[in-house]
Amino acid sequence: MLEKNVDFAVYAKTTPNKEGFFGTYGGAFIPPQLVDEFKRIDIAYQAICKSSKFINELRRIRKEFQGRPTPVGHCERLSNSIGNCQIYLKREDLNHTGAHKLNHCMGEGLLAKHLGKKKIIAETGAGQHGVALATAAAYFGLECDIYMGEVDIIKQAPNVSRMKLLGARVIPVSHGLKTLKEAVDAAFEAYMGEFEDAIYCIGSVVGPHPFPMMVRDFQAIVGVEARQQFFDMTGELPDAIVACVGGGSNAIGIMSAFLNDSVELYGVEPLGIGTKIGEHAASLTYGSEGVMHGFNSIMLKDEKGEPAPVYSIASGLDYPSVGPEHAYLHDLGRVKYMTASDDETIEAFSILSKLEGIIPALESAHAVAYAMKLAKKMGTGSILVNLSGRGDKDLDYVIDNYGDRLGIK
Ligand SMILES: *Cc1c(COP(=O)(O)O)cnc(C)c1O
Repeated sequence: MLEKNVDFAVYAKTTPNKEGFFGTYGGAFIPPQLVDEFKRIDIAYQAICKSSKFINELRRIRKEFQGRPTPVGHCERLSNSIGNCQIYLKREDLNHTGAHKLNHCMGEGLLAKHLGKKKIIAETGAGQHGVALATAAAYFGLECDIYMGEVDIIKQAPNVSRMKLLGARVIPVSHGLKTLKEAVDAAFEAYMGEFEDAIYCIGSVVGPHPFPMMVRDFQAIVGVEARQQFFDMTGELPDAIVACVGGGSNAIGIMSAFLNDSVELYGVEPLGIGTKIGEHAASLTYGSEGVMHGFNSIMLKDEKGEPAPVYSIASGLDYPSVGPEHAYLHDLGRVKYMTASDDETIEAFSILSKLEGIIPALESAHAVAYAMKLAKKMGTGSILVNLSGRGDKDLDYVIDNYGDRLGIK
């Protein structure tokens, strides 16, 4: 049964429970031969996250290598164009490599080192997670194998070059549809054969326990910084926080610092081009409970109950499930989950560029799109948006597909 009287003052210390459950969501549904290894990872993480040596090393890396803290900035022209409600951005686009993903990849790399691993393994779809992880591997001197569907390798050529330049091996996956799903299977299969020397690094707050917890904790720096920065700037906390939700790592990163405050929290899912299966990737909005990729959450299913095909203009958001903590916070009603369509996203992408001089990632533009709607509705007050990444990676795609509409072709 759902516990409605959650005490958010102690939430971070009590959630998830020891088995990795957020209410009924989460857990670790993994092959028996991996159970001991995942326990070892959990125990190692529990030890080092309390160790001042580990914490100080991560702090040093964040400052010297990643360029943290990233700033919070006020969008004066954007706010004025809408009305009186003031919109602010947490600038994760200014994090090294241009997005929030490096926050958890550096944590996972440091953990891999601590566990004595020689290699990190992952899959990538659009290549963003692959590039962030290859960056961490180069920094820590670890080998890095990235599994990628052959179709994606062709589509995302610049990211493939980046990964190779950073010293990673990009391993093509040539069966099935040759995209992300097959890459996940191939990466996991490879990992099963070499888990003594390697660790599988997950790219969001998804997967079996302890990954949703670890990735959340590594991303929590975003909220810790933003809460203090916003308070220093304005003398109070924002009225609302808005973040886009794919797996949910940037969203939980900023939200975790505000769970115990009277601040409204909004996650924004991609509505794509419609509400039918295959037209969107709004897992919490249209999904139902189920297990995939080793954890229980709310997922989008086809008629057979298998993971449904998903679509979003932002390739970082097109995942048919969502982090188990978001499913829990959704049921608790603490976070509200909204949607933004491709069209609304393109408009926000263009407006933020023109009015603020910031080209957002298409993922982040979903959050901006909803924040603009919310600002109109609220009329007054303040909204802090997590700008999870920069949009350079999306420029060619936007110009090819929407250049005429935006008058830039
Ligand atoms: C990958 C990505 C996302 C989506 O991942 P979450 O785990 O939901 O945060 C969002 N924004 C950017 C810029 C990304 O690269």
